[in-house]
Amino acid sequence: MNPVRANVDPSYDLAAWREAARIALQAGVPPEAVTWISAANDSLISGVDASTLPASAPSSKVPASFLSLAGAVLCHRDENRHALLYRLLWRITHGTPKLLAISTDADVHRAYELAKAVQRDSHKMKAFVRFRELANGSDDFVAWFEPEHWIVDRVAPFFARRFAGMRWAILTPYRSVRWDGAALEFGAGQTRADAPDYDSEETLWQTYYASIFNPARLNPRMMRQEMPQKYWGNLPEARLLPELIRTAGERTQDMVERAPLQVRRRVPAALAAEVAPQRDDTLISTQREASRCRACELWQPATQTVFGEGPTDARIMLVGEQPGDQEDLAGRPFVGPAGKLLDRALAQAGIERSAVYLTNAVKHFRFERRGKVRLHKSPGALHIKTCNAWLAREIQLLKPRAIVCLGATAANAVLKRDVQLMHERGSWQPFADGVQTLLTVHPSWVLRQVGGSAREAAYQGLVRDLALLTTVALSD
Ligand code: SF4
Repeated sequence: MNPVRANVDPSYDLAAWREAARIALQAGVPPEAVTWISAANDSLISGVDASTLPASAPSSKVPASFLSLAGAVLCHRDENRHALLYRLLWRITHGTPKLLAISTDADVHRAYELAKAVQRDSHKMKAFVRFRELANGSDDFVAWFEPEHWIVDRVAPFFARRFAGMRWAILTPYRSVRWDGAALEFGAGQTRADAPDYDSEETLWQTYYASIFNPARLNPRMMRQEMPQKYWGNLPEARLLPELIRTAGERTQDMVERAPLQVRRRVPAALAAEVAPQRDDTLISTQREASRCRACELWQPATQTVFGEGPTDARIMLVGEQPGDQEDLAGRPFVGPAGKLLDRALAQAGIERSAVYLTNAVKHFRFERRGKVRLHKSPGALHIKTCNAWLAREIQLLKPRAIVCLGATAANAVLKRDVQLMHERGSWQPFADGVQTLLTVHPSWVLRQVGGSAREAAYQGLVRDLALLTTVALSD
């Protein structure tokens, strides 16, 4: 048979390879007659173009497991992968339909080896991409990464799900991908210099990493295996490692010599009521502790910690994002314009503000100073994560019957997943121990609506969501 050229462009694209393989297979071209090409080597290869071949056989069905394997194998940089996959396809459709189950077969073994390498590389990308905020105040994040294989298209949907609420871009030498909050957009490769190498979150992340680094469990060999040195350039925490490793022995010794801390045991729920201290006292002492919190840098420019407030036997807990300008000055949650709107909405929904506990996912006001004005700035993912310890303690101590998440930040902080707020609002989500969570919008979002009728509609929507509390959360 005359040699045939089958073009796959881009070379890692499953749809492109499938189409070329389907035409060659239907034209009855055996694997040894096909030369697989991509844009890079196109002009150097002679032969009949596969796309011009007439079909002489009906199309064949292949198992889904083959297509899934092919999708991973194509992302490998091995130049022979297209031919390997076509050989497998040919054999599966010419008498060995269960070929993939024969693990001793050389082609099958090689294909799984390539797929495994791609999975490993994808895992590293998920673990070692570090976004840095652009210094232009746009709230956009950019990360630089150098994958071994063609995995950007494969891994990008993971980042879109994981960081759905952020606008971000990942730059690599061969391809870039951008997420604008709604869709992924792929583009050409970039250079390291196109990505920032420092942002203001870096110090926060380093502080957090240093605080969770356990010197007693240090195993440099394992650490290098898990976090290969070639990724260190992108990892802010890697800059701390030499010093953390150097002082690990000293710090471990110090831990051994220090007086033991009181062991905090988990108490079964049934016994907890008997042995737990007065809830009121405990919430107050937690509030006192939180007022001294320095776990992230937000405490510094803010006036004070704004802890939750409300009756200690409240059945409903409302969680917002963070205190605003007026809350920061007053030291109380929801006292500014958004708080006033919330009061009105609660009253209209038949709920007294004085009966609910109000708090925020983040306890310090994050802002940007413009002259004399302090403009609200959304807390970063790390602020929310770090501050979650306080919110978790409030929930644990208050034991509310229902938690209302006001806005996406609160919902993400409470449910610990990416929430599609506008799709999930007005619905009950299970939390833990029978506690239900109700998702709705933040009152400040209502205030931001442009035009009287839009604002009124948004307000009525909030009231409708809050009214669900009277029918479900409080029924015994
Ligand atoms: S924002 Fe939260 S974690 Fe950060 S300093 Fe304030 S209380 Fe502590």
